[in-house]
Amino acid sequence: MRFSTLLPLTNSDREAVRHQCVFTTHTPVPAGHDQFPLELVRQVLGEEYTAAVEAIRCCTPGVLNMTHTALFFSRYINGVSMRHEEISQTMFPSYPINSITNGVHATTWTSAPFHRLYDKYLPEWYRDNLYQRYAISIPLDEIRRAHAEAKKELLTEVERRTGVRLSPDVMTIGFARRATPYKRADLLLSDLVRLKRIAREIGPLQLIYGGKAHPQDEGGKTLIRRVFEAATPVADTIPTVYLEEYDIAVAKYLCAGVDLWLNTPQKPQKASGTSGMKAALNGVPSLSVLDGWWIEGHLEGVTGWSIGEDWQGESNTTVEAVSLYEKLENVVLPLFYKKPDAYATIMRSTIAVNGSFFNVTRMVAQYARNAYHFD
Ligand SMILES: *Cc1c(COP(=O)(O)O)cnc(C)c1O
Repeated sequence: MRFSTLLPLTNSDREAVRHQCVFTTHTPVPAGHDQFPLELVRQVLGEEYTAAVEAIRCCTPGVLNMTHTALFFSRYINGVSMRHEEISQTMFPSYPINSITNGVHATTWTSAPFHRLYDKYLPEWYRDNLYQRYAISIPLDEIRRAHAEAKKELLTEVERRTGVRLSPDVMTIGFARRATPYKRADLLLSDLVRLKRIAREIGPLQLIYGGKAHPQDEGGKTLIRRVFEAATPVADTIPTVYLEEYDIAVAKYLCAGVDLWLNTPQKPQKASGTSGMKAALNGVPSLSVLDGWWIEGHLEGVTGWSIGEDWQGESNTTVEAVSLYEKLENVVLPLFYKKPDAYATIMRSTIAVNGSFFNVTRMVAQYARNAYHFD
């Protein structure tokens, strides 16, 4: 059969396709929504098909929009966090958008020391991540011991890769994700005078960065350069390493072994984010701008801390930088150095509250129930 005998597309054709398709939109960032000039579409598909796609709601004048095509042909559409549903709904007002928040694969992202700890206290966790809710009853000493092991494994790996020996006793902040301007990797380094004063007066700090830029993302490459340039002159006070070739193997060490996971996206651009979920599985609390999954996972002083006080509106970099320093200076570092039990309690509730929820077991069950209707 020649395909052209199927044209023009009827409503029942559309329904037949919709019946089989669900669509997850993944980012509000324009680069994540492929668009092709109709000239190119015409070369690839020919006149007849181009006329058919133009006739349905897949195109803006002169352009085939792949996201609009997917929206048009799907019976269920979702974003990857509650906030992302809201943002997507404003981007695509004529389609009903739902949300299923992302999750991470718990057994992949749980470090060996926590793996052993969960096996001991919550043996069912391996089959069903909901049991991580009961991490709340694991003794704090054991949480601390498992974390110290994960931290040691990270620092050993850092030394192997960079030759830099970091201290196991110093508050270690991790920041790693694709280097692109809206993620603002340099926010923590935006006021070095203040950061140095915090490290001297409140307690020492060391930083581990990771993340590659897309080869065509000049802004991302500039950002990596800025992190290097800012960190080098303060290296005596605040040892900083930038891990090259950030990949899953590096991420496993990093998300598990730091004491605090930092995330500074410009809201509302982060659709979900997943690295903070990986950290949570290992008892590592987040200090993060309220965007994406963190709006749902954030309980102040229970699972970590917010940068800025609310999730509405758009980021103000000056305000958020001040908030970041204030949280570090007045809340996070004093707790880490002066109240280690309180810090370990936060690590534990991070696992119980967020590890038990932001995982693939829950996510897949939600897709099955809400998108695919497998009951
Ligand atoms: C988890 C992960 C990411 C995504 O991190 P986000 O914080 O969700 O942006 C990127 N790269 C690697 C190698 C990862 O493991």
